[in-house]
Amino acid sequence: MFCVIINLYHVHLQAIRGQHEILMKALLLEEAGLDPKIVSRDLPIPILGTRDVLVKVKACGFCHHDALVMSGVLRRGIDLPLVLGHEVAGEVAEVGSEVSTVSLGDRVVCLPSNSCGSCQECRRDREDRCTNKRGLGHGIHGGFAEYIKVRESTLLTLGPQIDWIHACLLACPIGVGLKAMDQAAQIKAGETVVITGAGGGLGIHILQATKDRKAKVLAVTSSPKKVALLRDLGADQVLIRGELDFSEVVLALTEDRGADVVLDTVGSVLFPSTFRCLGRNGRYVALGEIAGMEVSLNLAELIFRSSSVIGSVGVTKMDTDKAIQLVTQNKLSPIISHVFPWKEILEARKLLQKGEVLGRIVLQPNNF
Ligand SMILES: [Zn+2]
Ligand SMILES: [Zn+2]
Repeated sequence: MFCVIINLYHVHLQAIRGQHEILMKALLLEEAGLDPKIVSRDLPIPILGTRDVLVKVKACGFCHHDALVMSGVLRRGIDLPLVLGHEVAGEVAEVGSEVSTVSLGDRVVCLPSNSCGSCQECRRDREDRCTNKRGLGHGIHGGFAEYIKVRESTLLTLGPQIDWIHACLLACPIGVGLKAMDQAAQIKAGETVVITGAGGGLGIHILQATKDRKAKVLAVTSSPKKVALLRDLGADQVLIRGELDFSEVVLALTEDRGADVVLDTVGSVLFPSTFRCLGRNGRYVALGEIAGMEVSLNLAELIFRSSSVIGSVGVTKMDTDKAIQLVTQNKLSPIISHVFPWKEILEARKLLQKGEVLGRIVLQPNNF
C-alpha cells in the first residue's frame, strides 16, 4: 500500500510538470548580517537532469555553517538569495531518466556537497574531493525546502531503523567527524584524545566514536550543564573552560606528556591552548572554526615536538556508511537538542550562538 501511494504521487508530479511550473515552499536567506532576512517563499520545484534525483525533505540539521552564512561571516561562493541547509534526510520523489542506484520512495541521506560521480576523485570514492562539487545550502539551494535536487552520486539509502531527525545527521556532522578521526588523526586504541567543543554537534559524536576506537577521551566544554551527558557518553574526563587554562589540566592528566591527538571543533578562539595540549608526535586536527580569526603558531614548537597540524573538511560515502553502521548497531547515538519547524530558524541561530545547543538542532518542514 505504501508503494502504491508513493507511485501515485510520482505520477501526479510528472503529469502536472508537463503543463505548469509547480511550486514548493522554501526558506530563503535574502540578506545576511547581524539581523538576517530569511523568509518562506514559493519556488519552482527543480527540473531534473538525467542523473538527478528530487528528494522530499523530511528533516535538515542546522549547522554552524548555516549560522555563519546567515551572519555574513562566510561569504565566499555564496550567492543570495539562497536556501540554506546541507544536513538532509528525505524520501526520493522523482528520478532522472538515467538514475539507477535509487528508486521512488527510497529513504535517503545526502552528502553535504553535490558530487558529480564521474571525475577522477569521485571514481576513487573521494566524493569529498570532487572537482565539480557544489555545497548544498552554499553553492546551490539546500535542504530548508520541501524538495531538494541532488545528483544520485550524492545519496546513500537507509533502512527503516533510523528515523528522520536522526538520519539527517549521518553525513554531517557524524560522517565528517569520522573522516577527521580516521583519515586525518588516525586514532589508535589506547591513545589520549582531546576534543574541544565536546558538547557541540561535531564534538558530541566524535566523542562517542573515539570511545568506540578504545581511546582515552578528555572532553573540553564551555558549559557545566553538559558535563553529566558527556560523562554518560564515555568521556574519561570533562574539562570546563574557565579560569584555569585547560591545557594545564591536560598536561597534569597526562604526566606532562600531552595528548596524542587534539580534535578541535572550535578553532581560533581556543588557540594556543589547544596546541599546548599536544604531546610529542601528536596530531592536531582542525575541523571547525566558529570565529574566523587568525592564530599565531611557534614553528620551533611544531618542529621539536615532531607534531602535525592537519585540516579536515567534508565527508565521503564511505564515512557516512560507517556512521550508518555505528548508529544501527547502537554504538553511536545522534544527539538532538531541539526539533523546530522552519519558522523557528532565527531561534535556532540564537541558541547556537549562545552555546546552549547540546548536539544538533534539527529543522523540519512546517507542514510535516
Ligand atoms: Zn553540517
Ligand atoms: Zn566528482
